[in-house]
Amino acid sequence: AKSQSRGSISIFEPQMDQQLRDRRVLHQDLSAAIRNGELSLHYQPQARAGQTVVDADITGFEALARWIHPTRGFVPPGDFIPLAEESGLIVEMGEWILRRACLEAASWPVPLQIAVNLSPAQFMHGDLVGLVHSILLETGLQPGRLELEITEGVLIEDFDRGVALLRRLKALGVRISMDDFGSGYSSLTYLQAFPFDKIKIDRAFVINLGLNPQSAAIVRAVIGLGHGLDVAIVAEGVETHEQLCFLASEGCDGVQGYFIGRPAPIAQYAALVGRIAAA
Ligand code: C2E
Ligand code: CA
Ligand code: CA
Ligand code: CA
Repeated sequence: AKSQSRGSISIFEPQMDQQLRDRRVLHQDLSAAIRNGELSLHYQPQARAGQTVVDADITGFEALARWIHPTRGFVPPGDFIPLAEESGLIVEMGEWILRRACLEAASWPVPLQIAVNLSPAQFMHGDLVGLVHSILLETGLQPGRLELEITEGVLIEDFDRGVALLRRLKALGVRISMDDFGSGYSSLTYLQAFPFDKIKIDRAFVINLGLNPQSAAIVRAVIGLGHGLDVAIVAEGVETHEQLCFLASEGCDGVQGYFIGRPAPIAQYAALVGRIAAA
């Protein structure tokens, strides 16, 4: 507590030192993680928004990266993805994730959509279009099944380059989703300039649906915006039946969240993708 501190510097410095050391070690471990097979993908289903959710409503999955560290165990992506971004490791890691997701999805007998997150560094450096193209050829995944999720932060850096890149990606036949819509700035400008196929309403608005009328108004407005622009709207973070009913009654196209299904190894969804679960 404050009253007990004799000088915040002497108390907090060792702690910050420790944090820095921690990060350095974690970073070294992360660069070995791909080689050592510590990364894997979990899959979270997306469904058409209806009053009930049955398996037939599932339209696809979002791939989410998982890192099981040999001694620390599970490290959340909210921790290691930013670390990978700062260090540039994300380019190599992102390539692994994209290839892995396409490879796995290509093996599903049922041709559901597969959504993969792209980080800003992947988007702005290297030959992303060439990479996506060669991974599609290599894995045989039908381009229309691949959705690339980007946040608007990606586009802030270089607007013109962003527009050109998205157009070239779309020319390959893949779909583009705007992730975390409403959590950043200038969203409307981006909607006008970029050829999105899907907008994902940020979880924060969905959480508050039953709690404050403003969230309901915002969600309703975004759904209306999507319909006006002919862009599909998917709500993220749907955790309750009430949220699902509200979204369905407002005409939201898709839903994703714990109420539909948690991120899990694909074996858990084997029946949906048409595979026999591995023992
Ligand atoms: P995101 O892209 O917005 O992914 C959705 C996150 O919300 C996931 O967290 C998911 O587990 C969580 N989620 C889904 N439904 C619910 C729900 O009903 N309630 C709650 N409370 N949470 C829900 P996760 O897997 O921890 O990932 C966090 C973030 O890390 C992702 O946010 C994404 O920004 C990043 N990330 C994860 N995997 C990758 C990846 O492969 N590449 C990149 N570039 N980023 C990734
Ligand atoms: Ca996402
Ligand atoms: Ca999101
Ligand atoms: Ca996010």
